[in-house]
Amino acid sequence: MLITLKEALEYGESTTSGIAAVNTPTLEMLTAAIAVAEKHEVPLILQHAEVHEPVNTIENIGPAMLELAKRSSAPLVVHVDHGESVDYVRRGFEIGFNSAMIDGSRLPFEENLRVTKETVELAQNYGAGVEGELGVMPGREDGKDSDGGVGDESLYTDPELAAQFVAETGVTALACSFGTVHGLYKATPKLKYDLITTLRERTGVPIVMHGGSGLSNEEYRECIARGVQKINYYTYADKAALEAAKQLLVDEPDTYVYSPLTVPARKAVEENLDALVRVLYTRAN
Ligand SMILES: [Zn+2]
Repeated sequence: MLITLKEALEYGESTTSGIAAVNTPTLEMLTAAIAVAEKHEVPLILQHAEVHEPVNTIENIGPAMLELAKRSSAPLVVHVDHGESVDYVRRGFEIGFNSAMIDGSRLPFEENLRVTKETVELAQNYGAGVEGELGVMPGREDGKDSDGGVGDESLYTDPELAAQFVAETGVTALACSFGTVHGLYKATPKLKYDLITTLRERTGVPIVMHGGSGLSNEEYRECIARGVQKINYYTYADKAALEAAKQLLVDEPDTYVYSPLTVPARKAVEENLDALVRVLYTRAN
């Protein structure tokens, strides 16, 4: 069933859980993510990032995400991840996505405010939630290696600006930079837990973690306890799919068509997300 972003975040707060927000650019990832949400009877956010347009366009994978979400027994949000323009977010809303992130984090503050405000106004026509972002998170959503940035003080989100940003835009949740990076970690992340507490208090909205792949269980739990209620996750699940597909080619070198590769790939994503959900949710089955 479809639930709103707000409802998913409220579940996260009331159970001290982090809601997994999983990028599902392929049908394998999509069906695996839904199966895990159903198995554990927990809410989950299915999301499509603009950077994954070459894998599947939002017009192609989007309707599949929505239809499978609606018929699922699990409470699911269908979310546009890292919309780089209001137009891209609108494409998602037109398909039926009920939540979106507008990423103006690389724009000057005033410009980020303007584009995020515009997105919140648009979202109201669709009854959709909006996630904004403030502070620079190194790396790319497509999971390519992040080249540095770990521990760079200038990249962390400023709590004063964050409070102003949320008050003026009316976003449902805010993606902040507190030490995680997108993609695969080359260096140990330096998480600023006190900053999460301050950001949650000052903004009054749940905090979103990007670059959620590759943290330790303890790091996830501490971030959640401090106010992180949406955890974006993609790279390690898709990496697990690749490793499983490679292994099939080793085990069965006479494989001569593509489709069989998707079977172990899907299973690997399911196992990877299953382990994640057990850490993030206090009430996972
Ligand atoms: Zn991100």
